[in-house]
Amino acid sequence: MLTNCPDCGGAVTRGHDTFEVRIGRRTVTVPGEYERCRGECGEFYLAPGEMDAVMKRASAMIRAEEGMLIPAEIKAFRKGIGLTQPQLEDLLGAGPKTVGRWEKGTIIQNGATDTLLRLLRDVPAALQHLLAERGIVPDVVPLVPVPRPVSYQYRVTADSAPVVRETLAVYASEAQDLEVAIPVQRAERIA
Ligand SMILES: [Zn+2]
Repeated sequence: MLTNCPDCGGAVTRGHDTFEVRIGRRTVTVPGEYERCRGECGEFYLAPGEMDAVMKRASAMIRAEEGMLIPAEIKAFRKGIGLTQPQLEDLLGAGPKTVGRWEKGTIIQNGATDTLLRLLRDVPAALQHLLAERGIVPDVVPLVPVPRPVSYQYRVTADSAPVVRETLAVYASEAQDLEVAIPVQRAERIA
């Protein structure tokens, strides 16, 4: 948590607002918190974890509205068939760290993947077929946990909260990694 603005040294106070978050074709509005400089520059800052919290709320809302698997269901399915997160990524052809983010709730699986997950969960023959085809042997011994996404503080331009919303939307739709997803012209890593 900031006590003084890294830019102008002014006092920083906490605030909350609603954030529009776009994930795929869906846009939802969820509450979120931020810190704002009350000094001359007036910049907004998102502390570590605050962006994750907003994304979790947004993905939970969309999952509920779309009837998609929730994080706990994905995790229960994976553990139930004895796969590690990387093994499930291999099985689905998903990118590294993707399953961990689904299970954390910071990103949401797309509709086609949700369908595939349900098929593999509910039709054992489909699961066995794909495991054999990909040469994946379920391993009940957990491997090294997938690292948590790194949280940083971000500075966004002082203009307005909508800039924050834009950076969140990019994070939601393109996130392979936080640093990649935040456009540098709009947000700058400061810690
Ligand atoms: Zn300032």
